[in-house]
Amino acid sequence: MLERWRVQPGTNVDLEAVDPASTPGAPGGKEATLAALPALTVELADLQDRLAAEARRSLLVVLQAPDAGGKDGTIRHVFHGVNPQGTRVHSFKAPAGDERAHDFLWRVHRVVPAAGEIGIFNRSHYEDVLAVRVRKLVAPSVWRPRFELIGSFEALLAHEGTTIVKLYLHISKEEQRERLQARLDDPDKRWKFRPEDLADRVLWDRYRAAYNEAISRTATSQAPWFIVPADHKWYRNWAVSTILVETLRKMDPRYPQPAEALPKAVG
Ligand code: ADP
Repeated sequence: MLERWRVQPGTNVDLEAVDPASTPGAPGGKEATLAALPALTVELADLQDRLAAEARRSLLVVLQAPDAGGKDGTIRHVFHGVNPQGTRVHSFKAPAGDERAHDFLWRVHRVVPAAGEIGIFNRSHYEDVLAVRVRKLVAPSVWRPRFELIGSFEALLAHEGTTIVKLYLHISKEEQRERLQARLDDPDKRWKFRPEDLADRVLWDRYRAAYNEAISRTATSQAPWFIVPADHKWYRNWAVSTILVETLRKMDPRYPQPAEALPKAVG
């Protein structure tokens, strides 16, 4: 099932070839797919409970997408059933202060999930080969070697017990237009609108090329990328839930067994 979205290491990714409105593997249309979600939510909560109790390994979920790609909505819908105690979300904005005074992975490494935790990155170290590249914030001689540095960093995390899932939410340029327009039109969404989003939208093709290369260069077996068609939110939520549940099932976290015999009753 996971192969449907997973990028094989060594592939030259071409996002243009993936239809953002497609719904591969969905249990049916919108109604049937929405109906399949609660069971996944329950299972995700159960697996997270086991992961936390086991307290030996962690799961890192990296979420990347174009502006208005649905990162916030995905986090809200997919994780609404899990125990907040074992889950941490980190949103990465443009680096400031101390962050700028260190290497690009410094702020990332500090917040990777501890044993037993699920860590969710809302944007990530990938901005340092995406936004930074497209907006020409540093020279190519600075960002280009980062593909390899990211590979080493993720290999370190994987080696030390972190399972990594990297998700690209794939929306069309037209879908982005509609969602940004909705932010302008709907008073309750207006707070989300940033003029910078329009500046980035002009750079759509350059972002696309940067994503193609970043995903191609950093898709490994230990830190795989998954491309999730995301024009349909109901499909995106189901697909992301499925990817996470299947990944955790494979990890098979177990409740620890008590080291010694326990008393039968509490007196
Ligand atoms: P979001 O769009 O994720 O909901 P914001 O609207 O606050 O959140 O946008 C965060 C901005 O920070 C994005 O434009 C993103 O490109 C930028 N950003 C994040 N990390 C970096 C980085 N390392 N270098 C430059 N810009 C970054």
